[in-house]
Amino acid sequence: MKFDFVVIGSGILGLTLTLELARIASNAKIALLDEKKINRTASLAAGAMLSRYCETTKFSLDSETDHWKERIRNRIIAADYWESWRKTLAKLDYCAKSTVLFTNNCSNQLDADNLKAIQQVMSTQGEQALELTEDEIELAPEYYARADRIVLVRNEPAIEARQLLRSIFNELGNFPNVCIVEKSVLSISETSKNSFALALQGGLNITASSITVAAGAETTRIIDRSFPDLGKRIVPIISGNGAAITVSKINPIKYVYRTPNRAFSCGLHAVPYSDAIYFGATNTVQAMPSRAPIATDIGFIIDCVSSQIGKKWIEGEIEHFKHGNRPVSIDGFPVIGRTSIKNLWIYTGFYREGILMAPWASSLLAKCIIHDTSISAELSAYDPERKLIRTHSYNQCIDHAVENFHAIACERGLRLPSTGNWTQDFLGSYRSISEAIYARFEPHYRPPPDFLWDIHFGRLESELKELIERREI
Ligand SMILES: Cc1cc2nc3c(=O)[nH]c(=O)nc-3n(C[C@H](O)[C@H](O)[C@H](O)COP(=O)(O)OP(=O)(O)OC[C@H]3O[C@@H](n4cnc5c(N)ncnc54)[C@H](O)[C@@H]3O)c2cc1C
Repeated sequence: MKFDFVVIGSGILGLTLTLELARIASNAKIALLDEKKINRTASLAAGAMLSRYCETTKFSLDSETDHWKERIRNRIIAADYWESWRKTLAKLDYCAKSTVLFTNNCSNQLDADNLKAIQQVMSTQGEQALELTEDEIELAPEYYARADRIVLVRNEPAIEARQLLRSIFNELGNFPNVCIVEKSVLSISETSKNSFALALQGGLNITASSITVAAGAETTRIIDRSFPDLGKRIVPIISGNGAAITVSKINPIKYVYRTPNRAFSCGLHAVPYSDAIYFGATNTVQAMPSRAPIATDIGFIIDCVSSQIGKKWIEGEIEHFKHGNRPVSIDGFPVIGRTSIKNLWIYTGFYREGILMAPWASSLLAKCIIHDTSISAELSAYDPERKLIRTHSYNQCIDHAVENFHAIACERGLRLPSTGNWTQDFLGSYRSISEAIYARFEPHYRPPPDFLWDIHFGRLESELKELIERREI
């Protein structure tokens, strides 16, 4: 079998890209390859909030380079694009149209700082978050977890992930030139300047003129197996392992309820699915994708829902344990574009925002792949063979890490005596821990602060060092 375009990976990035290629290049033969049609992917595990604003953090606004400014701008563009793109698919409705953002005493100063940052970005778009009172919302938290600020962020919807993926597969069924091959890719090799051979699971072989690897957290391993020299130049992708649950037979909710990002993660959130509520999500950064959720993560989510959202929402039945490996690059930014091997493209690394970004980014990337042109300006910072992006000073990274370590402890019930210097001493000890971690990597590499929790617990350090040492850029 010979194809013009092959896309590896049927997560949201691969799916939206395949659809875009099919829509533009109606005469081309296109294949989408994955082990199963709908897999245990990051995309299926997502709460699928389309966070135009609510992922904004103070840290991202304080950045010393323009990378974060661009990323925040791109989120807004991608959110606008989502609205029109959704209407090109049959029966794809949002499960909630707006988000209620709340802060409470289960975190630290981060909550207030990030809420302010979100409002700051909203104001640049002429939007204002509407302040709400406790009586106007559906939550029933414990007395110690009552929300202190509640705001309505209009037009920040969410979508049910399974429905989204199904809907794109259904749409792909309308294109006779698209072939969905339920096999995973073992390796790729170049047969000539204009052709690749792909070895698939089960002994099948196919050839292709152009390949895009959109295999999420597995992307680096596919490249390493196939093109070891290129593997030394591509920005490595690791995995932000996330867990969530859906609970049915409980009181429905109308809005997405969420906190700002906190504790090295995207915060606590509840998303109203059609017959259940999605509660998420945790984030454990690891070099290798994991196969199942971590048991304590599930316990943590249940505890947070019970105290911060309300115990009646955990009295239902767990419908699904959700688990996925968010693809995240070692500098925290996406990896998108052509490689130095002609017609070999990479498309991954959207970490916590792949559902939001995919339709828009795929619309730009598909044109570049079809016309064999350089990547569009909006995505050009994400070149797969770039130098690692560094956006913050050493001190900013340390401060941000310390705040997040503290936020983790607060959400897990830390209460230090108000006499003496307990809080300062506690923060000081995590400052020393963070400094010691950075000292072991600097000056060649400055891990994003999001990785520090897992480095501290020994899950990531040697693996990251290995990835850095083998890099040729
Ligand atoms: C718990 C959780 C909550 C999240 N919440 C949100 C949210 O609210 N909003 C948001 O925008 N984003 C959210 N995200 C992030 C979002 O889910 C990801 O950014 C996005 O799904 C990544 O999509 P992807 O296509 O790159 O990867 P994936 O969805 O992981 O897809 C990669 C695909 O590649 C396939 N693959 C791997 N190896 C091979 C191979 N050798 N051959 C063929 N195929 C292969 C895999 O089987 C998989 O299907 C969340 C993620 C998690 C885990």
